[in-house]
Amino acid sequence: MATDVDARVDVLVIGAGGCGLVAALAADRLGASVAIVEKAPVCQGNTALSSGSIPAAGTRLQRAAGVVDTAETFARDLAMVAGPHDASHLVGVLAAVSAELIDFLIDDTGLELDLVTKYKHVGHGTHRLHAPPSRRGADLIGGLERAVARRDIPLAFSQPATALIDDGARVCGAVVGTPAAPSRIGADAVILACNGFAARADLLAHHCPGATGAIYAGSPHSAGEALEWGLALDAGTGNLGAYQGHAAISVETGALMTWTLVERGAIVVDGRGRRFGDETLGYSAFADLELAGTGPFHLVYDARIAEDVAAGQPDFAAACAMGVARSAGSPGEIEVATGLPAGALAQTLAAARAAARGEAPDAFGRLAWGFGPLGAALRYSAIQPACFHTQGGLMVNGHAEVIRKDGTAIPGLYAGGGAAVGISGRRGGAGYVSGNGLLSALGLGFIAGRAAAARLVSPSAPPRLAGRYDVSNQSIHNGG
Ligand SMILES: Cc1cc2nc3c(=O)[nH]c(=O)nc-3n(C[C@H](O)[C@H](O)[C@H](O)COP(=O)(O)OP(=O)(O)OC[C@H]3O[C@@H](n4cnc5c(N)ncnc54)[C@H](O)[C@@H]3O)c2cc1C
Repeated sequence: MATDVDARVDVLVIGAGGCGLVAALAADRLGASVAIVEKAPVCQGNTALSSGSIPAAGTRLQRAAGVVDTAETFARDLAMVAGPHDASHLVGVLAAVSAELIDFLIDDTGLELDLVTKYKHVGHGTHRLHAPPSRRGADLIGGLERAVARRDIPLAFSQPATALIDDGARVCGAVVGTPAAPSRIGADAVILACNGFAARADLLAHHCPGATGAIYAGSPHSAGEALEWGLALDAGTGNLGAYQGHAAISVETGALMTWTLVERGAIVVDGRGRRFGDETLGYSAFADLELAGTGPFHLVYDARIAEDVAAGQPDFAAACAMGVARSAGSPGEIEVATGLPAGALAQTLAAARAAARGEAPDAFGRLAWGFGPLGAALRYSAIQPACFHTQGGLMVNGHAEVIRKDGTAIPGLYAGGGAAVGISGRRGGAGYVSGNGLLSALGLGFIAGRAAAARLVSPSAPPRLAGRYDVSNQSIHNGG
């Protein structure tokens, strides 16, 4: 245990995103004294930038909506898209804890969450995304921040962690603050919740070379500290090549063009005016295809799709109000406006409509066409691929403990979210299923917070993981 410290808590959480705030709330609920340090002056990491959609199976919201789902089906869906994996042990663990996590978020932190039934993104066999009514991550993070304040958990802004404190036997705190005014905070457990390395161009180029041509649309604070601190302690790593891409960022406004457009029947064409892949692979996998292809890229859809999606998704309605969904009465009009080769788009649309009608097999194997063949009142939007965040990181076990390359746990060190190995496999953007980011963040945060607090009571016992949250455990506290 570090003795030369300025302050001491049971559990120190580094990073106030979705992972960190949930970890802090879960540890606090089990009676641990907790503090959170945050690099930025406000909670504005990736969780705040996201659409706040958390996938979970077997929840009471699903049951109320008549959706039949199980953790096993959920885990199968995730594994199918992820492909080859360094952390398949986490897929089942996170699927299994997901329903309990949603209960915790609603009952314990007071978050308002809906089951999203208007769309279910590629990879999910059923409706299992749970999101704030606004569908905005900012509201998810705002609700968690309010819960942290209600429970009087100290949250220090503009206090970056700059190093871990390690007494040779265990991680026992961190150095935080500016170089001019550093503080040493001692802790029995440190939870790394400071996201991945997508904002570090050198690390991204090394681990995810395929993503380097994409614009970066994530937090500037995802600077890879957790990875570097962990590697210095001989931690294992996994899925480092995985990232969440998005194929449809508006060139004009930077707005995210929801992939629901594709799920309703939109196609994507390249600089030749031709399709170049199966859009229903999903927005992340399709970003890889764009990165390997030649733009400019355009989403092409129709008025019916635009109206339907705008009615269900306020962000898309707002993007439309800014003029990103341009109208055209013919493919030729689009070609003139965008500089695509004359005649190419008409051919592309004819082939896509034939495939959607089932008259001919699609050249790229696309089977799902949403509303069917695109109508005559066309809409189009110029898009570009983006990298949102990295999905690989420090290897953790099912208790969110960081483990060394030899498989043993590093005592006192936990990780979740972008700091930890994710569940999206190793294949660049192709293994990402919508919600994998927040499930890894909030799910591993929930597990890490509880495991770290449980260790305080019974250091040799395996951390409590399975089972319902037990309110009678509030007395757990070592006062340290
Ligand atoms: C535009 C966008 C849309 C997305 N949509 C979705 C979605 O709908 N569903 C989904 O599942 N995922 C989505 N994601 C991914 C998801 O947001 C992330 O996977 C998830 O939020 C990661 O959570 P986190 O807590 O690990 O990181 P963050 O939420 O980024 O939190 C990390 C925090 O740590 C802080 N920090 C960093 N370094 C330090 C340090 N040294 N000391 C102290 N603090 C530090 C950061 O400032 C930040 O506040 C999206 C991402 C983006 C960018």
